Amino acid sequence: ATPTSIMVGTGRGADEGVLFRQGSALQQIENARIVVFDKTGTLTAGHPEVVSWEAIQADDDALMLAASLEQRSEHPTAQALVNYAEAQSKPLTQPESFNALAGLGVEGKVDGRTLLVGSRTLMDEQSVALDSTQQQTQTIERNGQTPLYVAIDGQLAAVFSVADPIRPSAKALIKHLAEQNIRTAMVTGDAEATAQKVAKELGISDVVAGVKPDGKVAAVEKLQAQYGKLIFVGDGINDAPALAAADIGIAVGTGTDVAIESADVVMMSDDLNGVRNAFSLSRQTMRNIR
Ligand code: ADP
Ligand code: MG
Repeated sequence: ATPTSIMVGTGRGADEGVLFRQGSALQQIENARIVVFDKTGTLTAGHPEVVSWEAIQADDDALMLAASLEQRSEHPTAQALVNYAEAQSKPLTQPESFNALAGLGVEGKVDGRTLLVGSRTLMDEQSVALDSTQQQTQTIERNGQTPLYVAIDGQLAAVFSVADPIRPSAKALIKHLAEQNIRTAMVTGDAEATAQKVAKELGISDVVAGVKPDGKVAAVEKLQAQYGKLIFVGDGINDAPALAAADIGIAVGTGTDVAIESADVVMMSDDLNGVRNAFSLSRQTMRNIR
């Protein structure tokens, strides 16, 4: 490859807000057979909001306790819970202990109570019974929203419904890739039914849901073996290992430090059109080289 063409392509990318951290990415993108997307914060906007909630144990202030704990988390879902509590003027306190569980939720102590806040996978792993919320869970997930559970001292205390709208640029990108005969897939830590709903809306057929960061890597490796050269597009929250494992990792949206470090390409604008631009820049560059 002639370095000049790479430099020209890299420069054009920079003008368009597509930063190629590796010149090799510019050469490889046009050969990608499959693009795997993270869901939350990548296909969706990444600014989730609590739309409703239901207390299971009437005498517990689950919202106050959960939001107090989530003040310490950097996950967008945590921010949603804190915003919701603050909008209701709930007095938050400092947790006595806090531990983030990547791709699952958080655990810790608030006001002497042991709290667990997060996904169904988290509750299942910690043997918190969810039978009493089957109905709510189903409704939430069928709407494409995410159920968020709060357990206090090992007992389910509340279920929140969290909504994160799909990015306006997502649907057109998926369609464009399909027209180019490039497969698309979604890999997410979110619940299966929620993921399926979003995937259906976007026209993505392959979905791997309910996985932690290492599960995302396993999914990437499997799809790579199956289909060939693979691009992973993620926001870097719980998917930095998948960004690194892919042939080409593209970081979008949040621009967290960890995403930038794990990615070959970084999108500076807060939409998905950059992915399409990356493909055309790659094609142009390779045409110039040949
Ligand atoms: P995605 O793979 O779709 O980008 P993440 O891996 O970031 O999603 O998170 C997976 C799931 O874990 C989320 O849908 C959410 O239910 C849960 N989760 C992660 N972190 C937190 C947190 N701090 N508070 C509550 N739930 C969380
Ligand atoms: Mg994400």
